[in-house]
Amino acid sequence: MTRPSAVRAGRDEMLATAADVARTTLAQHADDVDRNAVFPTESIAALARTGLLGAALPERFGGAGLDTAALTEIGRTLGRACGSTAMIWAMHQVQVACVARHSAGSAVPEELLASLAAGGGLIASVTTELGVGGNLRESRTSCVPHGDRVTVTKETPTVSYAQTADAFLITARRGPDAAAGEQVLVLAAKDQATLENVGEWNTMGMRGTRSPGCRITVDVPAAQVLPVPFADIAARTMVPLSHILWSAVWIGIAEEAAGRAVRMLRRSRRNAQPDRGPDLRAAAIGERLGLLDGLLKLVVDGYDRLARTADGEPTTDFVIEVNNLKLAASTETVKVTETALEICGMAGYQEHTDHSVSRMLRDLYSARLMISNSRLLETNATSMLMRRYG
Ligand SMILES: Cc1cc2nc3c(=O)[nH]c(=O)nc-3n(C[C@H](O)[C@H](O)[C@H](O)COP(=O)(O)OP(=O)(O)OC[C@H]3O[C@@H](n4cnc5c(N)ncnc54)[C@H](O)[C@@H]3O)c2cc1C
Repeated sequence: MTRPSAVRAGRDEMLATAADVARTTLAQHADDVDRNAVFPTESIAALARTGLLGAALPERFGGAGLDTAALTEIGRTLGRACGSTAMIWAMHQVQVACVARHSAGSAVPEELLASLAAGGGLIASVTTELGVGGNLRESRTSCVPHGDRVTVTKETPTVSYAQTADAFLITARRGPDAAAGEQVLVLAAKDQATLENVGEWNTMGMRGTRSPGCRITVDVPAAQVLPVPFADIAARTMVPLSHILWSAVWIGIAEEAAGRAVRMLRRSRRNAQPDRGPDLRAAAIGERLGLLDGLLKLVVDGYDRLARTADGEPTTDFVIEVNNLKLAASTETVKVTETALEICGMAGYQEHTDHSVSRMLRDLYSARLMISNSRLLETNATSMLMRRYG
């Protein structure tokens, strides 16, 4: 399908802006953010100022309304510069997409989304829960109605940028009598939420995401409960788009490590060992990144096809592909970066040098935990029995 040239210009401009902001701001602050485990204030402000925080937000809400492929390009570009900032950007895009696509014309969430977008605010995701862990499709907590309002109190072990967020999107059971899987999404603005018992965030990687646990209590008008059941939102948007954009970020991080390794190889060829043959490890890196690139594009196409069907259920094949993307991206990017470490040697093992891949490797170890790979393997193992061959 041919895109209108005005839209194409907007898209290309946004991609160029992402490259510029990544180079001039994210890359400059990445090491400090990592070393001190601080929220990347300057980098997120730059993304807000340039409209990149609204990349996934439809134009009717004042966003850029970029297509999924463009979002993955931005995720990769930001990931190459600062993994934490890129992951915050990706998580926010997913929350925005969930509200924009599944509010079904419900005025209150739409107005809140538009005002958040206008103010450059971030929406945090509160799905993980004590006692339930990373099982997205079950909640212990529930919406408790009082008059025309509901309250939700959730004990969560991990919420990224909770202390900086302007709003929260929280999973909960529809009501106190609802089953664990009968969930809804509740959108709460910062001034409708209270955070208590905020824990520590002193982790191996993704240190700038500032994701400690806390108890969050929200008290909102019932109209801020999204009208679409969470089961549909998760299947059609939250799960596939998370896996697509997270994978794009992880691929970007690994591409940065690969770039550092290639620069190291060029340097050693120029200087010490000009006669040495090609280093086959560079080919292995290229092969792994190429396969991930292909898988990412395949899943983006499937996701866009699903979005075009008004009420279509994701097929078993699509569910398997989305999970495969996450499984592959979360582990293969680590292998790419480990190979880059071997190539860079001690210069790669040092922190904060031109050839260091330490931050990248530490950031990438979070990937297998962000919705545990064990859970996805279990789902895929079950789904494989339903798959048709021939
Ligand atoms: C950088 C980062 C940012 C995050 N940000 C957020 C956020 O903003 N909001 C949010 O809600 N969450 C967030 N999370 C949480 C994340 O998405 C996961 O849900 C969470 O890490 C899961 O925690 P867990 O590994 O302790 O729990 P679980 O997934 O419950 O896993 C616990 C253990 O059980 C095993 N296990 C679980 N299920 C199975 C199974 N079916 N088969 C076999 N073994 C199984 C796992 O392998 C693991 O050993 C973030 C995590 C990270 C690393």
